[in-house]
Amino acid sequence: QAKADGRGTWCFYGVEMDKRLHERRNQEDELRQAIAEGQFEAYYQPRYLSEDMRINGAETLLRWHHPSRGLLLPEQFIPLAEETGLIVPLGEWVLREACFEAANWTDDLVVSVNLSPLQLRIGDLYLVIVSALGDSGLPANRLELEITETALLQENESTLDVLNRLKSLGLRLAMDDFGTGYSSLSNLRNYPFDMIKIDGSFIAGMSLSVENHSIVKALIDLGRGLRMRVTAEGVETLEQLNLLLADGCSELQGFHMSHPLPAKELSALLSKARLADEANP
Ligand code: C2E
Ligand code: MG
Ligand code: MG
Ligand code: MG
Repeated sequence: QAKADGRGTWCFYGVEMDKRLHERRNQEDELRQAIAEGQFEAYYQPRYLSEDMRINGAETLLRWHHPSRGLLLPEQFIPLAEETGLIVPLGEWVLREACFEAANWTDDLVVSVNLSPLQLRIGDLYLVIVSALGDSGLPANRLELEITETALLQENESTLDVLNRLKSLGLRLAMDDFGTGYSSLSNLRNYPFDMIKIDGSFIAGMSLSVENHSIVKALIDLGRGLRMRVTAEGVETLEQLNLLLADGCSELQGFHMSHPLPAKELSALLSKARLADEANP
């Protein structure tokens, strides 16, 4: 096709292609360098227990302090990290960072870390986790790994083995972005998950239509029936919060309660909450 367009076009495509490859290689080098130089920061978004609205955990969310582009969000670099395989060293960094940070938290809060599909397929995830726990001193039951349904779709037969071995360490497994993937229901039964995280897109819609609200209610009931905890993600309004509390959702996360915070700010929030508890038991 391109050939029929003549020599000039060939040339044009060639140059474009070259440019794109070149750009990509630059981005990959940048990402590699960022990992080596420690340009990443782990933010932590508190998760609240619905019974008393106390913080009982936090999710680790990556941020990149890019030297020229400013603070970058995961959607701006995770896809490239996954394509290039750099998510494996980056994921190991964030996991260790989160374990060391959480080991300092009071009140036995749980720290969640997102895992990418590639990390699940790479042989030494188990060892990486064992050493992160051992080196940081964080008890295994205070670490939760979040895995999306999409990650399970790319499974090979050893994914279940890996997850079962991880479970046997005593850590927790959460299915992330539940409802947005494909083979959700059988995955929930076949894999050793402790927690379902309902994707924020369902929460955003729940006060807008009865249909959306019904889906959220059904997901909460499903979790309960399977004896799993259920977290609602992306709780942005008081109205959503009240609906979720009434529906019996066990845990809540979202901008209405708190944005993701740098480690120091989370620690400050935890101390403040502890002082308030002591004053008002
Ligand atoms: P996720 O694991 O589903 O994380 C929840 C996302 O929702 C986070 O976006 C969080 O900041 C955002 N969020 C929380 N509350 C609200 C709310 O009330 N409203 C709205 N609109 N959004 C809310 P973030 O930090 O941009 O991360 C996006 C995704 O990037 C994550 O989705 C996760 O899939 C991925 N990600 C983040 N950190 C890591 C990491 O360390 N490793 C891997 N593999 N993926 C990561
Ligand atoms: Mg997550
Ligand atoms: Mg999610
Ligand atoms: Mg998500």
